[in-house]
Amino acid sequence: MNTISDLTRAYHFAAVRHLSQKRKGKAGEPYINHLTEVADLVATATAGADIDIVIAAVLHDVLEDTPTTSDELVAKFGPRVAAMVAEVSDDKTLPKAERKRLQIEHAPHLSEGARTIKLADKTANLRSLKKSPPADWEAARIADYVQWALAVGEGLRGTNPELERLLAEAAAAVVTPSA
Ligand code: ZN
Repeated sequence: MNTISDLTRAYHFAAVRHLSQKRKGKAGEPYINHLTEVADLVATATAGADIDIVIAAVLHDVLEDTPTTSDELVAKFGPRVAAMVAEVSDDKTLPKAERKRLQIEHAPHLSEGARTIKLADKTANLRSLKKSPPADWEAARIADYVQWALAVGEGLRGTNPELERLLAEAAAAVVTPSA
């Protein structure tokens, strides 16, 4: 059973593993800011009811983007957290278009914890796209991303009304021109 000290351990672990990685946006934010945002969305929307989901949210990109292995996550944070992180990780051996298609296909079949993390991740990514779009992304690419994020979100309906509302709000904000 994980506790609050395991959560702080997860933040430290993720911060170190993602240390050299920056977010895609033009602001080049440290990656830990994204992990903090996703974990905060999950913790707030679930009222902190299940600490394993929050820990998995902190670690959600560690398999996909760093040399961390699933065995290592099992040893450090237990099999349940490791399984949720694996569920929200793309198979990086596949081409990008196929990975994106599979996210839409797999979304409805994920565990509740993984679905919650996915909703929060897509919400955070859309917010970043609004706040700090990557310098080389044309309007059409941004619109495609929003469409895709909403298609993944469609398969996550019924998971968490608050996060579903925040996802829709973030998507609408991206396509609405700023004043
Ligand atoms: Zn993420």
